[in-house]
Amino acid sequence: MATTPTKKMAPRDNGAPDYKKYLHPLMLKNYGKWKYHEKVKPGVLKHVAEGGDVFYTVRAGSPRTLSVDMVRKICDVADKHCHGFLRFTTRCNIEFQVTSLENVELLINDINNVLGFPVGGTGNSISNIIHTQGWMHCNLPGTDAAGSVKALMDMLFEDFINERLPARVKISTSCCQINCGGQADIAINLQHHQPPKINHNNMQICELPKVVAICPVAAIRPATVDGKSSLEVVEEKCMYCGACHGQCPSMEIRDPETDTLAIWVGGKSASTRGGPSFMKLATFGLPNNPPRWPEVGDAVRRILDAYKETGKDYERIGEWIDRIGWKRFFEMTGFKFTKYHIDTYRFARTTFNTSTQVRL
Ligand code: SF4
Ligand code: SF4
Repeated sequence: MATTPTKKMAPRDNGAPDYKKYLHPLMLKNYGKWKYHEKVKPGVLKHVAEGGDVFYTVRAGSPRTLSVDMVRKICDVADKHCHGFLRFTTRCNIEFQVTSLENVELLINDINNVLGFPVGGTGNSISNIIHTQGWMHCNLPGTDAAGSVKALMDMLFEDFINERLPARVKISTSCCQINCGGQADIAINLQHHQPPKINHNNMQICELPKVVAICPVAAIRPATVDGKSSLEVVEEKCMYCGACHGQCPSMEIRDPETDTLAIWVGGKSASTRGGPSFMKLATFGLPNNPPRWPEVGDAVRRILDAYKETGKDYERIGEWIDRIGWKRFFEMTGFKFTKYHIDTYRFARTTFNTSTQVRL
């Protein structure tokens, strides 16, 4: 017979929490009843509700990786100006909400001088650049995605605090080809160029079936090496994604001599206008060159300069390229068009990432 537990169970923490608990009271009151919103200036939005309530959002760039001390400082600013409410956007901007225009300037003063963060990232600007989780959480990084974001944001700072682009531009950096979070108008991804090197001495028996199963193109198969169970890679099938390395550290894919960075353009998740779109290869083979990645910065600058010159209002980068054509894109940016820009890969499974919304 089942016994009744005497202690309370810990709350379940899986699944999305009820977001309404975390909304500012004025936002909750007017949920679904907003009449319009307008830009006050870069980084500041004004929302007006049907009943006449007015609400201001002030957006600040964050360095993404935050110390506990910094989180406490951010919360102190939200306690002082925003009744303790704030939110992080998907691109790690921090949004503070206030109910009067006078408080907007006081809040901006504290964001700039107490936190040391810039205000911007709204409308036709470069939103805060995101990077994949990187070395803080992951065992796969072949580069420091967070470091390259710092270098890029230093270069693009004026485009964060001003709205002077044809449309908003989202940029991301990723530290491997699995690319756990790098869909963007401009995406910088690390690329491997060789199959994994297997260390048969360290191969862990219990991992083998899982490693075989993880390969998206079925390039890994069992093998016996020196009388022991191990694995082998069918090299002509391997697309150097590194998924097997995440499953098994004895399959090392990273190589400081040959890994390079590639830039992809035109990714978009929103359903606006032309709908979601996959990003496509713009240039590749850029050196993985810390601490400032100057070659990557130069390539991003070339894309943005061409986009600023001929992009139409509200036209995102992918839509701009569709209109002017890839030939013109390569002419304007000076990137070389090569055989690697044509997707002739034949081994991907038919259901493999066929949607921007669902990863199969
Ligand atoms: S992009 Fe790759 S290496 Fe970087 S955090 Fe994601 S899975 Fe890990
Ligand atoms: S790198 Fe990717 S494609 Fe190559 S063997 Fe590993 S999982 Fe398969």
